[in-house]
Amino acid sequence: MNNFTRGVTPVAQKDPYADDVTQPFWDATQKGKLMSTKCTKCATHVLPPQPRCFNCQNDKFEWVELPGTGTIYSFTVVRHPLRPGWDAVVPFAAGIIELDGTQGAGARVQANIINCDVEKIRIGDKVKVAWEKVSDTYTVFRFEPA
Ligand SMILES: [Zn+2]
Repeated sequence: MNNFTRGVTPVAQKDPYADDVTQPFWDATQKGKLMSTKCTKCATHVLPPQPRCFNCQNDKFEWVELPGTGTIYSFTVVRHPLRPGWDAVVPFAAGIIELDGTQGAGARVQANIINCDVEKIRIGDKVKVAWEKVSDTYTVFRFEPA
């Protein structure tokens, strides 16, 4: 299944291996929806989902749909092929994306930034989610310029 594309990190697994806490997130990705858990007590977004809120220890959450856009909070460009065959993949960008809809209680995700010149990526750039369906149970999220 690994077809190597420059700038796109290959997906090695065909399932997210989710548990009861994280499965709703992966179910939503199958529908092209980026979801987050939001603490019902303090409104902190907890992503990836956890059994308890890291801010107030509450164990009750609501699922909220995020717009699927965000801002590059940080990133690095990987130039060394980390695995056999990845010489066709590097350079690629690994970013930390601060998700719109979570400001003030920021939820950030780590993701591959694709469909752009990695040399031109800057902190603060606006991005939007880009889905890659890997299998019937696993859809990977990446981000691309908005
Ligand atoms: Zn909380």
